[in-house]
Amino acid sequence: MKWPLRIGLILLLVLAAAVAVIQCWRPGLADYAAHRYPDSPIPPGALTATWFGVTAVLLRDGQHAVMADPFFSRPPGMLNALLNRRIEPDEARISAWLQRAGVEHLDAVLVSHSHYDHAMDAGAVARLTGATLLGSESSLNIGRGAGLPESQLRRVEPGARYPFGSFGVRFIESAHAGATGGRPTGEIDAPLVPPARYLDYRLGGTYSIVVEHPQGRVLLHGSAGFRPGMLRGERADLVFLGVAAVDDLETYLRETVGTVGARRVIPTHWDDFWRPLEQPLRPLPLSRLDHILAGLRAHPELRVQTLEPGQTVALFQASSSPE
Ligand SMILES: [Zn+2]
Repeated sequence: MKWPLRIGLILLLVLAAAVAVIQCWRPGLADYAAHRYPDSPIPPGALTATWFGVTAVLLRDGQHAVMADPFFSRPPGMLNALLNRRIEPDEARISAWLQRAGVEHLDAVLVSHSHYDHAMDAGAVARLTGATLLGSESSLNIGRGAGLPESQLRRVEPGARYPFGSFGVRFIESAHAGATGGRPTGEIDAPLVPPARYLDYRLGGTYSIVVEHPQGRVLLHGSAGFRPGMLRGERADLVFLGVAAVDDLETYLRETVGTVGARRVIPTHWDDFWRPLEQPLRPLPLSRLDHILAGLRAHPELRVQTLEPGQTVALFQASSSPE
């Protein structure tokens, strides 16, 4: 075999090995399973949470329901994202997951920011469930593109309280994780009609969302960034904490979980969202879920609890005191 051919072959093998490592070596699932939130009967009227991968969290109390960052479509294949192909909400899949979770009506769909992995299904979910979509003007443009009337859209004022039955929701201005690393910044300044390209889902505003309920307070912190001091004066019992692209976990924890005084953390946004939700979840490529969980465990004051997609759990004891 001639030398150039040999070198080419070796390079190809190295590349194949690198791809294999990226695909297969995703440590942390065993740790994740060890923290699994136990399944137990749900008392009537209990505030429950159901997680659907990434930062999609459904909160219900039997009377009312709000959902943050619904994202069921999960267009497959990282390569498609890298090539910035066109994507659109998969309404059959959305309906199937809503039905599986027993959701017919939602009071509100809350959008933390307008990247596709948080917002592309928000308009369709709001339309299918009669919900009001709350978010930045960019997120509202995703709603408009999905055919939502203005009466079902509400641009949020940071700090303002939006009541839905016993729920009170507030949006706190936050920052996106890390340098945006190729993810689109800026605004969606016109109705975004799908199919649209991955990069058309521009950031808009980024929010941390406080959900108040008589049974307890929940902080939905989707993107692993923050504005220093942004949560000062806020309280929460439990944080759904986005951990994708965390830069400095200790500082991040102090600014989020520590500031609000929460004792419980449910990690989100750790899963590879280029795979369908129907397949077993695995961590994002090149991420270290094992390190994140170890970093959380290093705080003995915190209880780390993990959820499986579609699993519904009661968040607090039936009494008004959080567990
Ligand atoms: Zn994002």
